Amino acid sequence: MKNKKVLIIGSGLGGLATALRLTSKGYEVEVVEKYHQAGGRLNQLCKDGFTFDLGPSFFSMSYEFKELFDYCKIPNPLVIKELNPLYAVYFENRLKPFLIYKDLEKLAKEFVDVEANMVAKTEKYLSAAGKLFHDTEDIVIRRNFNSKSDYLMQLTRVPLKHSPKMFRSMWTELEKNFDSQEVKVIFSLVSFFLGSTPFQTPAVYSLLNYTELKHDGYWNVEGGMYKIVEEIKKILDQRGVKFHFNTEIQSIITDSKKAKSAISVDGREFAADYIVCNADAASFRGKILKRAKYAQVKLDKMEWTLAPFTIYLGVKGKMDNLHHHNYFLGTNFKDYADKIFSTGISPKKPYYYVNVSSRSNPNCAPEGSENMFILCPVPDLRFKTNWQDSETLADTIIADLSKRIGYDIAANTLSRTILTPIDWEEKFNLYKGSGLGLAHGLNQIGGFRPSNKDEEFDNLYYVGASTVPGTGLPIVIISSKLTTERILKDDGKI
Ligand SMILES: Cc1cc2nc3c(=O)[nH]c(=O)nc-3n(C[C@H](O)[C@H](O)[C@H](O)COP(=O)(O)OP(=O)(O)OC[C@H]3O[C@@H](n4cnc5c(N)ncnc54)[C@H](O)[C@@H]3O)c2cc1C
Repeated sequence: MKNKKVLIIGSGLGGLATALRLTSKGYEVEVVEKYHQAGGRLNQLCKDGFTFDLGPSFFSMSYEFKELFDYCKIPNPLVIKELNPLYAVYFENRLKPFLIYKDLEKLAKEFVDVEANMVAKTEKYLSAAGKLFHDTEDIVIRRNFNSKSDYLMQLTRVPLKHSPKMFRSMWTELEKNFDSQEVKVIFSLVSFFLGSTPFQTPAVYSLLNYTELKHDGYWNVEGGMYKIVEEIKKILDQRGVKFHFNTEIQSIITDSKKAKSAISVDGREFAADYIVCNADAASFRGKILKRAKYAQVKLDKMEWTLAPFTIYLGVKGKMDNLHHHNYFLGTNFKDYADKIFSTGISPKKPYYYVNVSSRSNPNCAPEGSENMFILCPVPDLRFKTNWQDSETLADTIIADLSKRIGYDIAANTLSRTILTPIDWEEKFNLYKGSGLGLAHGLNQIGGFRPSNKDEEFDNLYYVGASTVPGTGLPIVIISSKLTTERILKDDGKI
């Protein structure tokens, strides 16, 4: 019997991982992609002899990658390296950064001047966060939901002792456990990945501190993050998966309850038995399927994660005092956090993140130089539409960074590229340039997140950051498993 055919719209990690799983189960897969190469946000920029990871620079829950290759019964081609320290945090009023270690004795030494009994306090805090993680991961993260009530039913299985954490903020939780502003600020940074401030993020997300500090830490890939894409694509090529790049889908041809084919902007038709959409699961339903529930006014009312303002610099010289991952923060944390999601102007004193991947992958930069990736989270295009000030914002960040690390970056710059939220939206169809997709408030997760199975068409599915379970590389890999399970079940294979 002829293998059934699956069309995947988008070659982000969600699309690639789904292609890997489905070809392992005998499906014929074809991929259409708007960008000129695979990877989506997990992409690569090569310029002036430097190689940059375009977006992601590390990941947690490394075992999800292992699960993906084990599922497909192929050896894991990735060589991964644990980050130690996990990251460095620079505060404006303090020369020396705080180095964040998983080893709690070492971590406590970093905070010896500001936080007494750090080991005991952190152990207690992480132990509660760990219990929450293990009590919820199979119920909330690794499961398909057929309806909101199905989801709410599942939630009743979460032990009641965790419920107060749904009603207080992450900041309040940190205040209950720690005294110093520095520890509270650093441990609360994870909330921004979820699309909110620690003052609004529910304390349940303290489980992310457990994943970074205790459970599996943070990891990087030898040879750069884009190796993930290259290795998966190599296997897919060997399996005969056809990729069509520079091919954007603009409509779906349907036949009562079936999605028959997808039509590209240049008029080509791609027919399949099943279609998996790796483009944003909310905005695709609005823009392409014209669903009223996801019309632009509705999308604009949803909560979205911050947009990236990214700078890629090739710099002459070695910046030995920078670590692989570095956060540069100011002294007005609450005020900054309260404004950054919805301000219409560029920050005067930006908070930003710096990654120098040439420190661990020297072949990303020519001898005697470094590649530097700077990410400044900014409001999405609903709030700040005009990015004519992008060069000025980049200059401000570079001048601040130069001062704080004592190295004249501007004078030694060999290569410089800036991407604003407009570029991110245009390259990968990220809604209003939001970097991580839909936010993860309690009203936008589980059964309340756009489902990975279409509401109208029986053979249309979704995978990736804005469907279940949510955003981030390992979570998107879990998403590919959930979507694959849906297809196998609907096809009578499980
Ligand atoms: C700057 C930045 C830094 C990040 N850092 C990290 C990090 O360090 N660690 C981490 O875990 N996560 C990080 N993330 C988040 C992570 O990148 C995402 O969660 C993940 O890559 C999402 O994968 P995806 O497959 O869902 O979507 P995408 O990567 O967005 O892939 C979707 C693909 O679909 C294509 N597409 C869209 N519409 C169409 C259409 N109509 N027709 C054809 N193709 C279409 C797009 O071009 C894209 O290639 C970061 C994100 C950004 C932006």
